[in-house]
Amino acid sequence: MRSIILIAPPAAGKGTQSDMLVEKYGFAHISTGDMLREVAKTDEVIKSKLENGELISDDIVFDLLQKRLISDDCKKGFILDGFPRNVNQAKRYDQIVEELGISSNVVIYLDVDKETALKRIVGRVSCPNCHRVFNDMIEEAMPKVSGKCDDCSSELIRRTDDNSETFGKRYDVYINNTAPLIDYYLEKGILHKVDSGMGKDEIFEVIEGILGGIND
Ligand code: ADP
Repeated sequence: MRSIILIAPPAAGKGTQSDMLVEKYGFAHISTGDMLREVAKTDEVIKSKLENGELISDDIVFDLLQKRLISDDCKKGFILDGFPRNVNQAKRYDQIVEELGISSNVVIYLDVDKETALKRIVGRVSCPNCHRVFNDMIEEAMPKVSGKCDDCSSELIRRTDDNSETFGKRYDVYINNTAPLIDYYLEKGILHKVDSGMGKDEIFEVIEGILGGIND
């Protein structure tokens, strides 16, 4: 079983690359952000934390993750998008890797500068129905019809935490909590750095090269 962890600052393209990997290789896509946004529909505390760009407690995230990992669609391999988010989560995940007998655990670090990430975030819109992501400020990522999903024609929505103010907080949380994972996984020898300032197809090619060079 293959586990692919994507680490990146907010809006570096984790979701977009995950979708491309799912489509081509059939991996399951596990986005803790998507799962938490679903929970936030009925939980005011989580809703306000997400809107403030704060991390949700490790126990809540683990509970959601463990339930998700036992689904059949994960057997072929899965992409962790947005998890782990701090060293404690990474250490707890190491135990899961052993328990599930995961043979290949690869970490891909999408590196992007703060200005590029901000530009991507303020233009980001997504489809509430099929979750496809677009960007109304980046030519190659615009929907064909403004405000409508190319695939299912649903009205596109903007995440409440995708604004320049919350971005600043999310970026700080990333630097303080998530960036230390880069060293953590470098020491384990499983980290692969990808320059994420390129277009999505070029990034995907690099990721495919990395995954192709690693046996399950
Ligand atoms: P981004 O595009 O900023 O990386 P995500 O969709 O991955 O956004 O996450 C959105 C929010 O969900 C985060 O700002 C955080 O509040 C919460 N979140 C997501 N994953 C985790 C996690 N593993 N641990 C704690 N909080 C998380």
